[in-house]
Amino acid sequence: MRIDGIPASPGYAEGPVFDLDRPPAAYQRKATATEERAALEAAIGKAVGRLAALVHTVDGDAADILEFHIAMLEDDALSGPALASIGSGQPADAAWRTALDSEIAGYEASDQDYFRARAADLRDIRDQVLRALGEDGEFTAPQGAILCGEDIAPTRFLETDWSKGGGIALKSGSTASHVAMLARSRGVPMVVGLGALAAPLTGAALLDAERGAIIFSPSPTEVETFRQSASAFADRQGAARTFLTEPAVTKAGTAVRVQVNIAYPSDVDGIDIATCDGVGLMRTEFLFGKTLPDEETQYHAYRKVLEWAGDKPVTIRTVDAGGDKPVPGFTVEETNPFLGLRGIRLSLARPDIFRVQIRALLRAAIHGNLKVMFPMIATSDEYSRAATLFAEEQAGLAAQGVAHKLPPLGIMVEVPSVALAPEAFTDVAFFSIGSNDLTQYVMAAARDNAAVAHLNSVHHPAVLRLIAAVVAFGRDKGIPVSLCGDAGGDPAAIPALLEAGLRDLSVAPAQLAMAKAAIAEAGV
Ligand code: PEP
Ligand code: MG
Repeated sequence: MRIDGIPASPGYAEGPVFDLDRPPAAYQRKATATEERAALEAAIGKAVGRLAALVHTVDGDAADILEFHIAMLEDDALSGPALASIGSGQPADAAWRTALDSEIAGYEASDQDYFRARAADLRDIRDQVLRALGEDGEFTAPQGAILCGEDIAPTRFLETDWSKGGGIALKSGSTASHVAMLARSRGVPMVVGLGALAAPLTGAALLDAERGAIIFSPSPTEVETFRQSASAFADRQGAARTFLTEPAVTKAGTAVRVQVNIAYPSDVDGIDIATCDGVGLMRTEFLFGKTLPDEETQYHAYRKVLEWAGDKPVTIRTVDAGGDKPVPGFTVEETNPFLGLRGIRLSLARPDIFRVQIRALLRAAIHGNLKVMFPMIATSDEYSRAATLFAEEQAGLAAQGVAHKLPPLGIMVEVPSVALAPEAFTDVAFFSIGSNDLTQYVMAAARDNAAVAHLNSVHHPAVLRLIAAVVAFGRDKGIPVSLCGDAGGDPAAIPALLEAGLRDLSVAPAQLAMAKAAIAEAGV
């Protein structure tokens, strides 16, 4: 049985299905309260041990999340009520579940986003201890498995060994989620938006994350066809790798700059700077994922990437929170978040938070070739206000004698008003087309909704015409234009983007080789 969804990270996986949502194994009750208490303490210790071992294998935001979970588990205030209930006769599993559920309900009822978002962390912690109590060794997915479920927690992604293959198939999920970004940068096949999976989540399955589908209990013919596609994909990837170290040039000899998109500073650790032309987009909202980072944290994150890139450009985007990227304590609850207070709108509404990022960027700028861009610009007034904040913070740093530099300031072109009337923006240093949002706003088709995925196409003439118009405007006015949306790394979209006049693309690191190979095939 084949179910279609949305590809979130290309590739193929064939293997046993692992049900992410199945309940933990039953707990064997003990004879006395003392034993129950010891069992709970041991399970908490075991969960902490697992997380601590994991912390050493990751860094950046992922490590922060795990350290936060460890700190919560080690906090007596969390285990206290459960231990007290054991004293009054409850078994360890029920005591822990009841205590955590009541804590979770408290967080869920909060009128502050920040605390509501913490409920997800608590659920993760609750289940980790319940699994440890049930000695659920089985909860580790077998190597090469296809992890299937409603959604997947970043910790689950990080603790899975992907070295022997495997993939992710989600009923909901989003191509823009943290895990989707991790999957793309590590080359793990992933499909989201599969809807209600009627099939029992057992047995073997085939995951086609190039087209976006999962096939349960496949027939021999389906297996055969799947293996041919998977091997053709592997061949294309193998062939593409030979392009990795070469500059990108089309068949007609046109040079194309190819930069990379990153989310975490640690993303650059796995990339050879010689294989790309710099960073075309660093999405800083991932630094803001859990808690609002202070100026020092941000400064060090930006500096790390700038130093890695040497004299190649690094385009850091100011925080694009909101839409499908909520940041607890910063973004607001909205009925239509993609059309709400996101990106530069939110930053301008919260200058206290924005100014911290601006200072970190101005200070980091002395360590490399920094460019800064603003997300979700719709009017020139927004650009002017953001540029004014940069000028004010620059004056402040100068007055304090702090080393800094004002980087060139550019904008994302992802709101149709800018693409249709770019003449209001002749004072920006550069344009970077965000094809993900530009497409969803032009087509009125959400980027994270499987039901309208067929409408969300960069190939539609309305989208391509706008892209071509922005490129032509930039050429006329001497303003550089690049594209950093996901279409830039999609071999199927690259010919049309080059046709529209683009010569500067920024792609997910895992797509770098394929993108260069597709460019080499292009006739422009
Ligand atoms: C885009 O919209 O194309 C883009 C690059 O930004 P994001 O995907 O982060 O919204
Ligand atoms: Mg965008």
